[in-house]
Amino acid sequence: MTTSATTTVPYTELAATVRGDLILPGDSGYDQARAVYNAMIDKHPAAIARCRDTADVITCVRFARQHGLEIAVRGGGHNAAGFGVWDGALVIDLSLLRSTTVDPDGHTVRVDAGCTWGDIDHATVAFGMATPSGFLASTGVAGLTLGGGIGYLARRFGLTVDNLLAADVVLADGTFVTASENSHRDLFWALRGGGGNFGIVTSFTYRLHAVTGVYGGLLGYTVDRAVDVLQAYREVSADAPDRLALYAGLVTAPPAPFVPEHLRGQRVAGVIPVYFGAADEATRVLAPLLAAAPPVLDLTKPMTYREVQQLTDGLNPPGMHHYYTAEWLHGLDDQTIEEVLAAAANTPSPFSVIVLKRMGGVTGRVAADATPFWYRDAAYNLDVHAQWAPGSPPGQHIAWARAIRQAAQRDSAGGGYVNFIGGDQGHDRVRAAYGGNYARLARVKAAYDPDNFFRVNNNIPPAVPSGNGGRGDR
Ligand SMILES: Cc1cc2nc3c(=O)[nH]c(=O)nc-3n(C[C@H](O)[C@H](O)[C@H](O)COP(=O)(O)OP(=O)(O)OC[C@H]3O[C@@H](n4cnc5c(N)ncnc54)[C@H](O)[C@@H]3O)c2cc1C
Repeated sequence: MTTSATTTVPYTELAATVRGDLILPGDSGYDQARAVYNAMIDKHPAAIARCRDTADVITCVRFARQHGLEIAVRGGGHNAAGFGVWDGALVIDLSLLRSTTVDPDGHTVRVDAGCTWGDIDHATVAFGMATPSGFLASTGVAGLTLGGGIGYLARRFGLTVDNLLAADVVLADGTFVTASENSHRDLFWALRGGGGNFGIVTSFTYRLHAVTGVYGGLLGYTVDRAVDVLQAYREVSADAPDRLALYAGLVTAPPAPFVPEHLRGQRVAGVIPVYFGAADEATRVLAPLLAAAPPVLDLTKPMTYREVQQLTDGLNPPGMHHYYTAEWLHGLDDQTIEEVLAAAANTPSPFSVIVLKRMGGVTGRVAADATPFWYRDAAYNLDVHAQWAPGSPPGQHIAWARAIRQAAQRDSAGGGYVNFIGGDQGHDRVRAAYGGNYARLARVKAAYDPDNFFRVNNNIPPAVPSGNGGRGDR
């Protein structure tokens, strides 16, 4: 692509070398290329390189090093903090890298790092298989995987990182390695939750699982019953089998035909059960929940995996402003329920939601130091997602989200989920998200990125300013 911008950095050289487009300020398409999922983010990168292949990524890294440029790395562009773009940076944009290869006999899928989870579900469901992911099709596989990855399959098959078998990575010095249990083991450990701190992943290989019968949907309750509903959710979810994912929360009922008229536009309490198994088993497993908290709206039924993955798409319209925060909880005592619900009342935006995810199952049986994902023994993830239309001042929405997290502190396990840390939450939140794994992450960072080249992220500065001697490249 030709550009009209003038700059002291010889971007024309880069444009001539890469196969993808190099988009500069003033080029048509610049504003579209710098936009990310969170419409509140308004960053102006110096250049955006839309890479076509791994060679482009290597070229960009070497060019940035040679000219002392700051870089940002964009996968799906979904991160609420907006780390996929950055003021004055060279954005290494992977969003055109979208191919997927399923090995049905080996039960694996290899995916390019620009894929979204919608791409992966599309590729694998055709073979009756899936790998654990998030719950929104437009989320990028790269950022989600590198932070851990929590979704409906987490109790059944573990986190996304528990199913990662290998990653191809361009390192800070522009070299390329494959990290797995057999190669660059320290790097492979760090990539399974340590975020974009260690290199640019160009492809991921995941283990696949057969996913056939699925039963799930939404149970709706008037908001005045929210305390009873969360108490029943707590009791029933404590004994849930691994096959059952159980989410609970507060949302605004959409004006959809399946919602009774008196609930449309109202705040409602909701429970999402997703059972991976036969319908008759599912109804047996869900009976105690329905008895303890009879819903006014029961939309549960046999579903395909793809339908389940799209259950909440309607709650996440495009073009909104977002602020995320989250906390790991050991429990959910009555006082926490009361205080969280009090803090969540009078939400300044009908689009904002709080969601409790019951953890445990396979995720909880992995050792806390097996990957950087520390809070394996947490009972719940409390995820507070403030979402509002452009034009509304952000302060009230951010304050609402923070107050809810604060209200849950009595049951806090000590930190939050790194993929739900908003941009301004400070380094202490990043450190707390890694608990006892932080020091090892900082050591791996020192071995693989001693200059903190990869720093536009939830950053883990290197433990010591050393060379590459400490790499675990066995
Ligand atoms: C509406 C919504 C729903 C969500 N749902 C879930 C969910 O169900 N489960 C869950 O676990 N999380 C969920 N998330 C959080 C999500 O995992 C993070 O926002 C994640 O960062 C998104 O990844 P991305 O590639 O789309 O983001 P990007 O903004 O592109 O990147 C995020 C971070 O990863 C780095 N990065 C991106 N690609 C690469 C790469 N190839 N190599 C190295 N570093 C890279 C970036 O530099 C940046 O620091 C959700 C977020 C939103 C906004």
